Amino acid sequence: MTKTYVGAWPIFDEDYTEGLDKAFQRYQEAGISHLMYAGIAHTFDVNPQYYELTKIDPHIQIDFEKNQGDIFGTKYHLITSDFNEVRALARRYDLNLEVNITPGVSEPIVAAYPDVAVMDIDGNKSKHWMCPSNPDVRNYFMGRVEDILRHNAGIREVELDVVSLDFYDPQVVPDWVLPELNPLGRLAIGNCFCDHCVKRAQAQGINVDRIKREIRAIHKEATHLNYQSFLDLSDAYRGVFDIVRYLLQHQDLLTWIKFRSGLVNDFVLQFRNFLKHIDPTVQLSSDLVAPSFSWTLGQVYADQPGLTDMTKLMLYHKCIGSFEAKPLKRIQGAIPEISDREILDQYYRLKGFSGSYQMDEFVKDGIGVENVYYEVRKARLEVGPHHPIIAGLVADSPATTDDVRQAVQLAAKAGADGFMLHMWYHDAPKDNIVAFGEELKQLGKIHHE
Ligand SMILES: [Zn+2]
Repeated sequence: MTKTYVGAWPIFDEDYTEGLDKAFQRYQEAGISHLMYAGIAHTFDVNPQYYELTKIDPHIQIDFEKNQGDIFGTKYHLITSDFNEVRALARRYDLNLEVNITPGVSEPIVAAYPDVAVMDIDGNKSKHWMCPSNPDVRNYFMGRVEDILRHNAGIREVELDVVSLDFYDPQVVPDWVLPELNPLGRLAIGNCFCDHCVKRAQAQGINVDRIKREIRAIHKEATHLNYQSFLDLSDAYRGVFDIVRYLLQHQDLLTWIKFRSGLVNDFVLQFRNFLKHIDPTVQLSSDLVAPSFSWTLGQVYADQPGLTDMTKLMLYHKCIGSFEAKPLKRIQGAIPEISDREILDQYYRLKGFSGSYQMDEFVKDGIGVENVYYEVRKARLEVGPHHPIIAGLVADSPATTDDVRQAVQLAAKAGADGFMLHMWYHDAPKDNIVAFGEELKQLGKIHHE
């Protein structure tokens, strides 16, 4: 029997503060053998010869992570530690420190080089997301990974963290994003009309002006912010088949959604070929959001077997409420007549999720654990039987030990090949790591020492 893949996304500075031996022992006891520290790609030295094909200077991100940090906090100890020493220590606990790299999102890089950003239909630039079609972006990430792999022995996996086509991060929808009515806003987000993307679209025979007209029309309809418009959309699009009716009227949209995923796939494929050329034994994994809505970001599960060695599904069911509620509350802010029940009912129907019908409970508790089963199952069925699906499960608050145990059970039942535990949102209860390991042992996924 091959060993079940079990890993975690922890925060190095938390483990450092607790004491690495203590933290590593806990991971080992929980059967965890792969660690993806938040921001780990920024801990390694920079050798300038790997960045000749890009204008992006890696020090911009490194300095930012060291001194300021993104939503996952500062990474001072991570960046100032000697990772060869840390890796040697980790090995004594059967842990391997792998490389996670976030190819798309960086506020400091976008601020320094605004032209690498994703651009919307009106020419506005994202403040977070870089375009996967931009050669400077591609060459920066390939250069960074080559630099890391060639100077640090022992890395066995490179994990691409959310390669996608997004204009604003749905987790952190910024204040300047105007409310858009569901489902139309969802159908037409995640576009980029930068020169590189437009050129690629034209090369594939896509009539970009016609697509632009269609997107504009959808956007116009989605921003008719009155109660009747909300009710009309909510009443007309109740289930999966209803969305097909919409697509029949907007057939170019389907071409466009497919094209968007092609841009993302193309980035991953180029990265894969490059990585395997450096070292064919290094595994490539890719982190995708849940299948229910991954297509809105250009992530298509069915395409993954041709792109990577394994796919990690991120569904942090207890944590997504506060993120997902942001655009919903913005719609309610514009149309105060919409009740919590009405907007959440629509949201659950569209995404196929279930949870509380009270907005404050939804914010606090997220969606129900049963959703883990369905999303892993969808992923499993879509990629087919041979491509590994690693279920990313949440250990961050407010997840309890019972939530973790249940999520592990449901992911296993749905056919997950491996398991990852997420802790990047700070101070995840240590008991959740223990419960994760205990449940995996119970299920026979890992074995007692
Ligand atoms: Zn673009």
